[in-house]
Amino acid sequence: KSNEQSVIEAAHELAMKFYHHILLKTEMGAPGLNYLEQRGFTKEMLDTFQLGFAPNHWDSLTSLLEKRGFNLKALENAGLLSLREFDGKVFDRFRNRIMFPIWDGQGNVIAFGGRIIDDGKPKYLNSPETVLFNKSRTLYGIHLARPSIRKLNQAVLFEGYVDVISAWGAGVLNGIATLGTALTEEQAKVIRRNAETVILCYDSDEAGIQATSRAASILVQAGCYVKVALLPEGQDPDDYIRLNGGEHFKRDIIESSLTLMSFKMQYLRRGKNLQDEGERMRYIEEVLNEISDLPRAVERDHYLRQIASEFSLSLDALKQEQFRMYRERR
Ligand code: ATP
Ligand code: MN
Ligand code: MN
Ligand code: MN
Repeated sequence: KSNEQSVIEAAHELAMKFYHHILLKTEMGAPGLNYLEQRGFTKEMLDTFQLGFAPNHWDSLTSLLEKRGFNLKALENAGLLSLREFDGKVFDRFRNRIMFPIWDGQGNVIAFGGRIIDDGKPKYLNSPETVLFNKSRTLYGIHLARPSIRKLNQAVLFEGYVDVISAWGAGVLNGIATLGTALTEEQAKVIRRNAETVILCYDSDEAGIQATSRAASILVQAGCYVKVALLPEGQDPDDYIRLNGGEHFKRDIIESSLTLMSFKMQYLRRGKNLQDEGERMRYIEEVLNEISDLPRAVERDHYLRQIASEFSLSLDALKQEQFRMYRERR
């Protein structure tokens, strides 16, 4: 590890403790603590995930880092401070935000996500990429979730930091999240090294459903067995837990997750009237297309039988049709 890296790590560790202290122990942190309590965060969640608050000042962290002898210019590169162009003065990058420390796999704080507490923009401000922080390689919560992920041989992948924390409060300890970007191959490999099964639990909105399909194919490529946890339309995991409680979330959402093919079939059905012959044929065609993508013959056979029986079709005809598609794509 280079000297530069050690300095950045030390500064992040100090910033995490500082923001956490502000949140829990000071008047300046009251707006943040109020906000989090309103949202149902418990003391245990705040401590486990070391949440913090960046006060609404220009130089809170800056003056602390200066006092501790850090080279402020170097910390501008590290994403903790910002530089004012015209006079070269540095100031706090994060102000008036709830701070979510982001750890690497070894448990070093390497970045922050900052959420605004009113409806200002942007809603989340994340650290920029640095020598330590590579967004496409990092997974939020991985160092906390790893023991549980390994033990269950299963990870639950969320969209948001808040979802990971809420799920943890609900007893789902194997939750992780991407950092506001689409899942990458690198992240999928990290997950696969720790578990075979991944449950995708994204927000139930159009963007989340699209992202689920894309993440699923990347995970399958990486050798994962993928399941999909479906939420009521318009909700995200945290919304669901707030509304229905953690036990329902565990039982009715996580433990009731669908196989990837069931999810795809449900998705392809949306907006189609299967009573209509033309739409029904189009649906069957689309499902056969998905079945052709399955790597294992046993799986293909299983879903072909399911379709044959659901629509009273001959298995032979379906097999012929599917085999034609299968050959076309290889
Ligand atoms: P909350 O419940 O606090 O609104 P959320 O996790 O539901 O948070 P989403 O809008 O669903 O927020 O976004 C999911 C994730 O995407 C966030 O956790 C964050 O990592 C990322 N994200 C959202 N908005 C932004 C933004 N404006 N800039 C960068 N990343 C963002
Ligand atoms: Mn969303
Ligand atoms: Mn969300
Ligand atoms: Mn949310």
